[in-house]
Amino acid sequence: MLKQFDVIVMGAGPAGATFTLTLKDSGLRIALIDKASFPRDKICGDAVSSIAKRILRQIDPNLETDLLDFAPKTNITKALLYSPNFEQLEIGFSKVGHCIRRIDFDNWLFNKAMENKDALFFPNAKVLDIEHQAEKVSVNLADGTRIEGKIIIGCDGAHSMVAKQLAGFKVDRKHYSGAVRQYYKNVKGLKGDSLEVYFLKGYLPGYFWIFPLSNNEANVGFGMLSDTIAKQKIDLKKSLKAIIHELPEVWERFKDAEPLEEIQGFGLPLGSKKYPISGKRFILCGDAASLIDPFSGEGIETAMESGKFAAELVLKNFKADAYSAEDLLAYDARVYKKMWGNFRSHYWMQKILGKRVWLINKLIQIGNLPWIQKRIPKAFY
Ligand SMILES: Cc1cc2nc3c(=O)[nH]c(=O)nc-3n(C[C@H](O)[C@H](O)[C@H](O)COP(=O)(O)OP(=O)(O)OC[C@H]3O[C@@H](n4cnc5c(N)ncnc54)[C@H](O)[C@@H]3O)c2cc1C
Repeated sequence: MLKQFDVIVMGAGPAGATFTLTLKDSGLRIALIDKASFPRDKICGDAVSSIAKRILRQIDPNLETDLLDFAPKTNITKALLYSPNFEQLEIGFSKVGHCIRRIDFDNWLFNKAMENKDALFFPNAKVLDIEHQAEKVSVNLADGTRIEGKIIIGCDGAHSMVAKQLAGFKVDRKHYSGAVRQYYKNVKGLKGDSLEVYFLKGYLPGYFWIFPLSNNEANVGFGMLSDTIAKQKIDLKKSLKAIIHELPEVWERFKDAEPLEEIQGFGLPLGSKKYPISGKRFILCGDAASLIDPFSGEGIETAMESGKFAAELVLKNFKADAYSAEDLLAYDARVYKKMWGNFRSHYWMQKILGKRVWLINKLIQIGNLPWIQKRIPKAFY
């Protein structure tokens, strides 16, 4: 069965949903394809920074108000960083962020995207292959449906088929992380307004997190650079269990807590290496374009922003069918102009701190000196 559209979007996570939302009143006919149906979970820390709200506001100010009315979330005003010797440094945020379970946040965003009446959703889609032709792109689904469009937007996450097939992406472990997550209830001393980040001896470079969710639940996890995981044959699930059960300072918080699921893991393609993220009749967004912050592991806001940038260029170039590799280079330039500075500095932060326990201890100690405290500006979050 042949179905024709203007744009094919693979993946309806934050990148694909924001793309579709941005084009709400454009009249462009969009096929939004996902291998899942919504609501669906995504393994994540669930920290949604204030930048996500800025992006929503830019698309439509009502979206921010709507998100704020959206119930299951916590309001985040600071991060508590812990050194390997468990000294705490508080970093205040200049704007309020949130922790929202991805099953809820992505579903909220997806439903907003589906208010685009020119978008048709293909749930539970098993994509067999993508055909890249001179005048169009076609996607063949296992149920026999063939979807054609002028351009395809790869928003299909860390294992993106579009990135592999059309851009030849391969995982580079030096610029890729792995992380695991487990939801908990009743973690003792949970601070409802703070992201807790622990740099732990024996578990560097990487960090353990406890992020507060609504209903006294917490998103608990641990992540590391894939290069280290491979070289040291680290089992992230075992590491998370060991951190919780074997470190007395952590166990004290967890001994009456209840895990709500098995530990689950997923990959994080980091933005510390530049890739060509568009080409003839395709654009990559979010994780498919490897746009996760190399230090914090945050990728929701960059997925949303890249989705918005892609939508704006697709709309601008649509009438002229200007989707050659050269025509789309403006997208790469805009994304990297906005994000590369942060990615590079955070990459170097990650490299310099590395496994240097003494350095992290020292920096947190220095950060707590009263005259430094007075001078630390609130972090942008
Ligand atoms: C453990 C962990 C913790 C993290 N913590 C945070 C955090 O706290 N804050 C933060 O900002 N970021 C965090 N991230 C990163 C964040 O999860 C991603 O950057 C973000 O989800 C990227 O959004 P996306 O839309 O690009 O991809 P995704 O959210 O992965 O969405 C991709 C969509 O594509 C669909 N799809 C995949 N393959 C196909 C296919 N072949 N055909 C059709 N559909 C397909 C999927 O079903 C999915 O719906 C974390 C990541 C991990 C792994």
